[in-house]
Amino acid sequence: MRNNIPIPSPIKTKKIKVREPIDERCWAFMKALRERHATKRIYEVNPYAEVYRLRENLYGILTESLGGMGDVWTYVVIGPEKAMLIDTGYGVGDLKGLANELTGHMPLIVVNTHAHGDHASGNCQFDRVYCHEYSVPQLEKMRNPHIWDHLFDEHGKPIWTEFDRNDIVPFHEYEIVGCPDGYIFSLGGDHEVELIWTAGHMAGHCMFLDKKDRLLFAGDDVISMRISIGGPRADDPYGQYATVTAYRDQMAKLAARLDEFDYVFPGHFVFDLENDVILALVEAANAIIANPKDYDFVETAEMSTGTITRYHKFVRGLGTLAYTENAV
Ligand SMILES: [Zn+2]
Repeated sequence: MRNNIPIPSPIKTKKIKVREPIDERCWAFMKALRERHATKRIYEVNPYAEVYRLRENLYGILTESLGGMGDVWTYVVIGPEKAMLIDTGYGVGDLKGLANELTGHMPLIVVNTHAHGDHASGNCQFDRVYCHEYSVPQLEKMRNPHIWDHLFDEHGKPIWTEFDRNDIVPFHEYEIVGCPDGYIFSLGGDHEVELIWTAGHMAGHCMFLDKKDRLLFAGDDVISMRISIGGPRADDPYGQYATVTAYRDQMAKLAARLDEFDYVFPGHFVFDLENDVILALVEAANAIIANPKDYDFVETAEMSTGTITRYHKFVRGLGTLAYTENAV
């Protein structure tokens, strides 16, 4: 497989191999960012994280994927009285300590966009995590000390990315709080953040709208490369929402709210996307629903569940929307 040359960085992870190459535009963006961004900083408390100051009161924390996929964004939004931590990454390295250092030990509201290992394995560093209510069953399955096992081979060596196993912050029980669509978090004063359920990538996938700063934190439902619509899974009682149709329905509602936010911050790769990206996504989803066979290209992909056939529809100015036959 074609591979990307690793971007040099003094953080403590080192890529061994990847599952799919990163597309050129994302790669170029990340390379320029990681090599040249004026605010890039690595804190002693967590040598696995690159920290970028993206606004006066917004930090982006970049950690390298431990599973051979795209590197992961965690965001810290600082309000007048509280801060919000959006996603928790793989949980290797002290994320809690880092968040405390960035916020000056403010009370922290920890939230998840969705229940995938690269976004939620650090949850156990905290006492309570909020998510959309349809994510609760999936997060409960991940609430155990074995969530990191799949990153190692039978000899205990990391498969995809080199890191020190001792830097996994030991598992501790935590509370999962499911919230309905539209739930409002207050960071103090008039600084409110709304949970917006968007489905698609996973049934319980949601975004977080910082209403004060007019920013949308979009998780894996907006990515500048491939957005994967998960498809129904037998083990997910809300599986019918991991579809292109459910995604289109929710994104169409979001498209009617473009006057409430200016920029979009995804869970991977390019951030500060302009809000009209939502319109392009609705357009692409509508085209798939109108004729699922009218895709732009098809590929076979190796998943933990076996080999799948994945169809891609181009999204104007962004990347692709990817789906399987049963995910429309
Ligand atoms: Zn995901």
